[in-house]
Amino acid sequence: MKVFKFGGASVNNVERIKNVADILKQYDGQKLVVIISAMGKTTNALEKVTEAFFKGKKEEALQLFDQVKKQHLDTAKYLLVTNYLACERQLQDFFTEVEWLLHDKPARHYDYYYDQVVCCGEMLSTCIVSHYLNETGIQNKWMDIRDIIRTDDNFRDAGINWLITRDAVQKTVLPQFDQFNIILTQGFVGSTDENESTTLGREGSDYTAAVFTNILDAQSLTIWKDVVSVMNADPKQFPDARPIYELNYNEVIEMAYYGAQVIHPKTIKPLQNKGIPLYVKCFLDPSLQGTHIHSQQLKNLPPIIVLKQNQVMMVMNTMDFSFIGDNHLEQLYHVFEKLKMKPNLTQNGAISFICALDDHAEKIDQLAQEASTLFEVSVMKGLSLLTIRHYTPEYFDKLTGGKTILLRQQTPETVQVLLKWETGKA
Ligand code: ASP
Ligand code: MG
Repeated sequence: MKVFKFGGASVNNVERIKNVADILKQYDGQKLVVIISAMGKTTNALEKVTEAFFKGKKEEALQLFDQVKKQHLDTAKYLLVTNYLACERQLQDFFTEVEWLLHDKPARHYDYYYDQVVCCGEMLSTCIVSHYLNETGIQNKWMDIRDIIRTDDNFRDAGINWLITRDAVQKTVLPQFDQFNIILTQGFVGSTDENESTTLGREGSDYTAAVFTNILDAQSLTIWKDVVSVMNADPKQFPDARPIYELNYNEVIEMAYYGAQVIHPKTIKPLQNKGIPLYVKCFLDPSLQGTHIHSQQLKNLPPIIVLKQNQVMMVMNTMDFSFIGDNHLEQLYHVFEKLKMKPNLTQNGAISFICALDDHAEKIDQLAQEASTLFEVSVMKGLSLLTIRHYTPEYFDKLTGGKTILLRQQTPETVQVLLKWETGKA
């Protein structure tokens, strides 16, 4: 048995959905769990719906939701013939679920509504894809993931209850394989004991797929993406980025930690625990090799580059030139926690503490203000944090040559510098 995950870009329009069907045809006769995200930018569109609703702008919320409805109905109409009516009926049920809520007045907190509305994107996309596959002869069983993945009620970043989820997979998913080769369900979504929908954090479908892979002891997980493979840098920033055909879990965790947007970081653990391989493949050209990620040691990995732009450097000096003490730092970390901020890099000196943070302007202002009761604070914006794993001195010089380095940290594996980086000049 294998698990496949298709992201939003792979089901973005009629052609792309047909392409998914073509890929699945290649696996005829195999047992597959197929996890699918919301179509294209649907999640963003549904976020806008929730925002309008929560601000009390009911009409605007309904109008924005109408656009989401129309887009899905249009897609279904282009794709389906015999199954159109059945699909439309199912879509209407999901629409009604959301519209009921939008007609109410917000009485609970934002994150709760976010999850009730946003989860609909995955319901709609999988409903259409499932009907289309059935219509083209690729028999599959559509399942509502909310009957399978049980979570706590930490809305928007829900934690999975593995015990209940494992049980549900064994009891409700596995028996379906007696009748079907393909089980098709949603990524990113779960539900609480109270049957409230939850979500697992943006881009969380990879994680759902990993959870299934783990519980089912699947042979492998394949994440189908629109890139040829995992690359050693973001090709949009570094035109000479090159593919990496083989990686191990630890390296992927490190890459994600430093900010590479490869695979949702939570995805790795469930696979690593059971030593199950992960393949990243290109849905635009499945014949390409892609990337194979496993648990073995690898030698000679190429330099891997992560560039995080829009960074702020905050320098905090003690007010009386006393040494920085634990109590200073403890208080400062309380402020970070309160503002839900995580420094991307920190450095301690005798009388100063320096950190790099993402530039969320409001939060930075608030942090600077609160920290100024403890320290003398200075803020510098418009910086970039460059991380190079497996660097060589030559490579380091090539990337940083001529640039002003404000801060540098290094281990034998990884070097990080905070610097001024003019966009477009990578
Ligand atoms: N649809 C969700 C998002 O866009 C989850 C996912 O795609 O993994 O974040
Ligand atoms: Mg996505």
